[in-house]
Amino acid sequence: MECSTASAGKPSNGRHRRERWNMPELMWFRNDLRTIDNPALNAAAAGDTGSAIGIFVCTPGTWHRHDWGAPRVTLILESLRVLRQELERLNIPLLIRIAETDMEAIDIVTDVASAHGCETVHANMEFGVDETRRDRLAESWMADRRIRFVPHQDQIVFDPDDILTKGGTSFKVFTPFRNTWNSLLLDRGLPESRELSTCSPIDVDSDQIPGSVPGFTPWSGIRLWQAGQNAAMDRLNQFLDGPVDRYHNTRNSPDIEGTSSLSPWLATGSLSPVTCLRPLIERFGPDLSTWPAGPATWQSELVWREFYRYIMHHNPKVSMHRPMQEWTDHLSWRQDDDGFQKWCDGETGIDIVDAGMRQMLETGWMHNRVRMITAMFLTKNLLIDWRRGERFFAKHLVDYDFASNNGGWQWSASSGTDAAPYFRIFNPDRQAELFDPERTYRRRWNPDHHPLSTMPIVDLVSSRRRAIEIFKTARVAAG
Ligand SMILES: Cc1cc2nc3c(=O)[nH]c(=O)nc-3n(C[C@H](O)[C@H](O)[C@H](O)COP(=O)(O)OP(=O)(O)OC[C@H]3O[C@@H](n4cnc5c(N)ncnc54)[C@H](O)[C@@H]3O)c2cc1C
Repeated sequence: MECSTASAGKPSNGRHRRERWNMPELMWFRNDLRTIDNPALNAAAAGDTGSAIGIFVCTPGTWHRHDWGAPRVTLILESLRVLRQELERLNIPLLIRIAETDMEAIDIVTDVASAHGCETVHANMEFGVDETRRDRLAESWMADRRIRFVPHQDQIVFDPDDILTKGGTSFKVFTPFRNTWNSLLLDRGLPESRELSTCSPIDVDSDQIPGSVPGFTPWSGIRLWQAGQNAAMDRLNQFLDGPVDRYHNTRNSPDIEGTSSLSPWLATGSLSPVTCLRPLIERFGPDLSTWPAGPATWQSELVWREFYRYIMHHNPKVSMHRPMQEWTDHLSWRQDDDGFQKWCDGETGIDIVDAGMRQMLETGWMHNRVRMITAMFLTKNLLIDWRRGERFFAKHLVDYDFASNNGGWQWSASSGTDAAPYFRIFNPDRQAELFDPERTYRRRWNPDHHPLSTMPIVDLVSSRRRAIEIFKTARVAAG
């Protein structure tokens, strides 16, 4: 374990000489950069001593290993700037440290806890294999130093172990998962909203937020996004005040702003799903079967987000680049580096695919319908391994979120749980006619496309046939 070097055997730092009133609790921020509806922060601020310190550790080595790109990292730094201000209002200083890996971060957080006499470290859990391992190690490493590591649950509304089939196993299909989720909501409601009260002042200064992190160039596209919880709340209120009522009709149209665009804030934890759902439950009640179509459809999308985290929790293999459907391991993916590069650059000659890729390269965001079209084009028409596309999206999306990205890619590649059947392959041109009938979206993001002079890199009809054959063969090979 990498963290075995730094703080072991250090002389006492005076923690035991401190008075209890002077012993703050430590809040370790990770993917939860907000003060609103933050259970770990609530607990830290409500500790016996009434004072708390926040810490965030940048771990560029781990971020690289997890394929994060400059858009996500830049958004995190901007979100920390807002978080720092919000915390200072509550008398909670925010410390920033840089380590290479998450394992080194454990050591740093433990040292900071010791130096400030914190007996308890609070953190919200994350579901990836590496993150789960990090927290298990943190717990035992800190316990050896008489520091309590207390995990809380904030990434999804209900504990993944509370949503099980009658046989006690985990769900693999979305609809029964959502039905059970909806029943739980009716039974339990959402966690209550708690106004954070101001902590007792503490003689610790917040750190400056770094302008960049080693290995990640600041991303200029950040000018298009406003980081932090206040911007998220403005966007949420604006969306709930009208657009959500039409969402069931508008959500598939990339040519209009029919969705909330809240994903970047949800992905950094500047916004909690509980905060999104509470106003709707206050308006329509906890029985989702009575909700109007717009809000009900939007709630269902938020539950898809929960579902992919749930899948990750119950199926650690998805965090290890493994498909949910193991028979897809038998697929003969094409290497086709040239085709892959053209897809990355938005140069495939397929109008809607190129428009989507260019939207992402410029803004860090792509409409969900177009994410499905571009992903299916890569994995079916080009027959290129979904993991290459998943990685490219990870590097370029400002809302990059491992569970949703992996879920979306495995859905499109038919390797996922409850995925698109392998023979149901979108025709991108037909999708474009259906969902962008006036070419508004394509004209905006791919203005130079001329159908008569642009030759697609692949024939849609024969490549579709080829994909079905190869998938069929893999299925047979797997028995
Ligand atoms: C190939 C592929 C890759 C994707 N990668 C990501 C990713 O890295 N990060 C990410 O947040 N989403 C990802 N998605 C899901 C989805 O495209 C985005 O969440 C959505 O486009 C965000 O736009 P919005 O905030 O306007 O969503 P809205 O339609 O307003 O939905 C509200 C919220 O619900 C969640 N949500 C909506 N649709 C989905 C979905 N299909 N799966 C999971 N959660 C959903 C998001 O958190 C979203 O912000 C991916 C989908 C595909 C097909």
